[in-house]
Amino acid sequence: MEFQVIHKCSTTRARVSRMVLAHGETVLPTFMPVATQAAIKGLTPEQVESLGISLILNNTYHLNLRPGVDVLKVAGGAHLFEGWRHNMLTDSGGFQLVSLSKFTTITEEGAVFSSPFNGDTTILTPEESISIQHAIGADIIMQLDDVVPSLLQGPRVEEAMKRSIRWLDRCIQQHESAGRKDAQNLFAIVQGGLDPNLRDKCLDGMLERKDRVSGYAIGGLSGGEEKGRIKQCADRLPEDRPRYAMGIGFAEDLLVCVALGIDMADCVFPTRTARFGVALTHTGPINLKLGKHAKDFDPIDSTCPCPTCKDGTSRALLHHTVTHETTAAHALTIHNIVFQAQVMGRAREAIIAGTFPDYLRSFFAGYFGDRGYPEWCVAALRSVNVDLLENSKTPMVPGGGAKWEYSDAA
Ligand SMILES: [Zn+2]
Repeated sequence: MEFQVIHKCSTTRARVSRMVLAHGETVLPTFMPVATQAAIKGLTPEQVESLGISLILNNTYHLNLRPGVDVLKVAGGAHLFEGWRHNMLTDSGGFQLVSLSKFTTITEEGAVFSSPFNGDTTILTPEESISIQHAIGADIIMQLDDVVPSLLQGPRVEEAMKRSIRWLDRCIQQHESAGRKDAQNLFAIVQGGLDPNLRDKCLDGMLERKDRVSGYAIGGLSGGEEKGRIKQCADRLPEDRPRYAMGIGFAEDLLVCVALGIDMADCVFPTRTARFGVALTHTGPINLKLGKHAKDFDPIDSTCPCPTCKDGTSRALLHHTVTHETTAAHALTIHNIVFQAQVMGRAREAIIAGTFPDYLRSFFAGYFGDRGYPEWCVAALRSVNVDLLENSKTPMVPGGGAKWEYSDAA
């Protein structure tokens, strides 16, 4: 991997970097769309490529179940299997330890799964996770970590954090002994829950292994929480390695993380919410299932460069088809992927132009309008010298903040 920081914001910790992997260059910060089952639901690789996306995420757990390593090996890896020519990152399968935990038991050896398809028992060890990711052939691969629910406290969090360091060593060993170190880039995942001391201990352990990993992810946190742990990790992670915040996808969350020094993020939210009829816009998400859009003949966003908006597809048509026709889900997926890319692309441009704090203020003002800024966003941005409330009439609201059209309060 070639990784160079090319611009730094003089106010916040935001930065623009150039990352060159085996399948080309990706400029960071960037949002990675998630292709769970080897494809972004509803889109062809050519469509994804035409939207300017150069890095996607695939799920190891799902690819290992179907089509399986044997098929991927014959195909020559997931790039060839999927027809995807650009960069790819695979997770380790660790996240599914939480999301499918009723099927999983954790031991020191690894995670024991029962297949939700046929009940067969398999064990995912750190070595096995790396071997599967070698067969998939992603440009960035993740260590297997011991993931616990993000709000959990107590001894289990410390146990998982320490085990994640031990499992990192086993992953490094497997990766290096397989001779894949130059072809694929292994990232460590910092764990430790919400406890600052555990996060620091995990950082100590993982920073000691810096010369044997290509980058760092911050795991075990979910979107929208207070950002103290992200800041703590981003502040201590090395300048010359990419920093990846796992499972972050709301626009306000992405920009806060970028301001704290994060380079990469992923989440199923933008593509999943599209399939439920929600379009993301610079003035907040809109739910096209609602009757109020039935006679609205404007596109989702007349300034959006995505094919859906450029073709003039109306909100009314999308409302009419959204729960009945797969084309509507595709049209919204395309729009939402382009929206995420725009939010991050404008961040990169602003960091380079030296106007990132202004971009943050104008984005938040447009996005939240008079709904009010979530308290955690205000606090997190203040920690990097940007005060959203300065010269602003917009109030601050407690908790998660604005209630969008997809929420109960709409
Ligand atoms: Zn659009």
